Amino acid sequence: MSDDHESPHTLAADDDAESTAHRDFWAETIADTIETRDPDEPIIVKGGVSPSGVAHLGNVNEIMRGYFVAAVLRDRGHEVRQVFTSDDKDPLRKLPRKLADTDGNIVGLGEVDAGALGRNLGKPYTAIPDPFGEADSYAAHFAALLEADSDRLGVDIEMRSNTELYADGTFDPVVSHVLANADTAREVLAEYQAKVDEEYVPFNPVCEECGKLTETVTNIDLDSETVDYVCTDMVVGDETIDGCGHEGTATFREGKLPWRFEWPGQWQVLGVDFEPFGKDHAEGSWPSGVDIAENVLDIEPPVPMVYEWFTLNGEALSSSAGNIVTVTELLELLEPEVVRYFFALDPKKARDLDLSRLDQLVDDYDRFERAYYGEVDDESVTEFAEAAYPYVVDEADDEPPIRLPYTFAAVLGMVEDRELRIKLATDEGHIPDDADVSTIEAALARVEKARNWAERMDNAYNYRLQTDLPDVEFDDDVAAALDALAEVVAAGHSGEEIQSKIYDTARDHDIEIGELFEAGYRLFFDETQGPRLGEFLGELETEFVVGRLRRER
Ligand SMILES: [Zn+2]
Repeated sequence: MSDDHESPHTLAADDDAESTAHRDFWAETIADTIETRDPDEPIIVKGGVSPSGVAHLGNVNEIMRGYFVAAVLRDRGHEVRQVFTSDDKDPLRKLPRKLADTDGNIVGLGEVDAGALGRNLGKPYTAIPDPFGEADSYAAHFAALLEADSDRLGVDIEMRSNTELYADGTFDPVVSHVLANADTAREVLAEYQAKVDEEYVPFNPVCEECGKLTETVTNIDLDSETVDYVCTDMVVGDETIDGCGHEGTATFREGKLPWRFEWPGQWQVLGVDFEPFGKDHAEGSWPSGVDIAENVLDIEPPVPMVYEWFTLNGEALSSSAGNIVTVTELLELLEPEVVRYFFALDPKKARDLDLSRLDQLVDDYDRFERAYYGEVDDESVTEFAEAAYPYVVDEADDEPPIRLPYTFAAVLGMVEDRELRIKLATDEGHIPDDADVSTIEAALARVEKARNWAERMDNAYNYRLQTDLPDVEFDDDVAAALDALAEVVAAGHSGEEIQSKIYDTARDHDIEIGELFEAGYRLFFDETQGPRLGEFLGELETEFVVGRLRRER
């Protein structure tokens, strides 16, 4: 047996890639590597997840990485299936702090029967009732959420339940083979896990008495395809699951392989050709999985791809710490193509998704889109855009869509009146004068997203322009300063000029600058603070601004 982990299959995709043609999009490089193996069709692209409390954007990472590779292969004429396993025969190890309801809204444990959930620790997710009482099980609830997220992003995945793969006999040949070769299996795994000793049997029966997964197998009967077990305590990760002491017999379908064997087992029974995974697996179950695939199961492992995790607002994603964002939430702030673009970027690069700076992400996306249409003079962006853009959008039109810059859309979001929004966007040259209704409609769709962003982040755009004159009164000095400012605006100045004129006007009328700004915020927003006033007023219709400064309308 080899203890050389640098086998040809160990994360060699990069090296393989460099020996083939240069590609501008990583998914094409991976597709090249898959093609060199001449796989049977349909080509199987897999991902997988263990059900947790909330399906969030971190789970989508794997779905989207697989999607791009599948899309490139389909474009080259291959038949491809994107399979996603719900590793739902795993035990619930500890109570999640947060759950997501059927609509994807995040709720605390207080809103469900947490006691009932607590009594199910150690049982497979599929044996635990849905805390919301709707789906068949906890696992089914979670899988449905993930499938819905995938749908929202326009990615068609086939969810496969691990529990079902055991129940319907799909896993039978793998379990039989591993248990028939238990000695070899033990020797291979012992190189990776210190806890593997002489007694170790690579099978975890479900106790018929208490329903929990257990690990003390006392006898294997290959002919009857059963094992005898004692329900002892089992250590899973950092948690210990208490056993009930029951002694019983389980069939090969009434239990599961430990993860280190189950993963390569999935490659075998599903015929997996490619699988992306996070770097936790790259250092753990991938090298042992390769070894088990080659030396226990005698199969070829799939083409691997390690992706970097992204951080959210500078911190690691964490359901328990509440640092997550769901697809539903993100799609209130961004168009689906922008979310897809985020995952089309180089998977090897660590990235931060900073919700407070979504404007930068959208600006990058817009540039990427313009590059595809030949409007950006930067070869590195253009080459990537030409390769990746067709997979990021539903369909690339002949003409580029009209995009309002995200922060401008946020400014329009401060204005409730639709006609005024159109006028402002047209005046600024973001919408052509001759645009038809559907073009205008499509362009304005971003305003709602940017408005949601302003409200969620409570940033400088989270104000509403008052359509009617608020009920205000000013002393004579301030009133005179406002009238003077009205003259300045009427003379036609840019936003930046108006901003500096506000300072001049306050000085000329011998009033505090803060007082004049506050007067402006009260007039336009009925608030005592707001965004950079001069620049905002510069975006509005001159006539409207002048009338309001004069307290006439
Ligand atoms: Zn038990």
